[in-house]
Amino acid sequence: MIEGSCLCGAVRFRVKRMSGIVECHCAMCRKAAGGHAGFFFVAMRNEVSWEGEGELTHHESSPGLVRSFCARCGTAMTGANLKEPDETIILAANALDGDVPARVIAQEFRASKATWFEGHDGAEHFDGPYPGWEKLRP
Ligand SMILES: [Zn+2]
Ligand SMILES: [Zn+2]
Repeated sequence: MIEGSCLCGAVRFRVKRMSGIVECHCAMCRKAAGGHAGFFFVAMRNEVSWEGEGELTHHESSPGLVRSFCARCGTAMTGANLKEPDETIILAANALDGDVPARVIAQEFRASKATWFEGHDGAEHFDGPYPGWEKLRP
């Protein structure tokens, strides 16, 4: 079972199957998901079971498209879904727990990419937390 949850644990989703993950560089997804990009996948709506669905709050980010967040902690739980739902639902990969059977398969809206994000290759990388936090200054 593929599971996702918000930061505070009030909202959870479970799905049996998921699509590949799409990385969206548009400004709305950056703000909604809280990173250099938003990461989303598709599931069949009737295969999603929610826990704490009542804690979700919704924002119509474009006409006819609605995003959902945990009202308590702000975690993005869905992508921009049709207000009039079809058989699929776009879920937020940032909420996924543990290992999942999908990987990032595509990046979209590269033209809107955050100017501060240049990929990970040139940056130092650490298996655990960045050890420089305490010395970090502007
Ligand atoms: Zn929450
Ligand atoms: Zn986007």
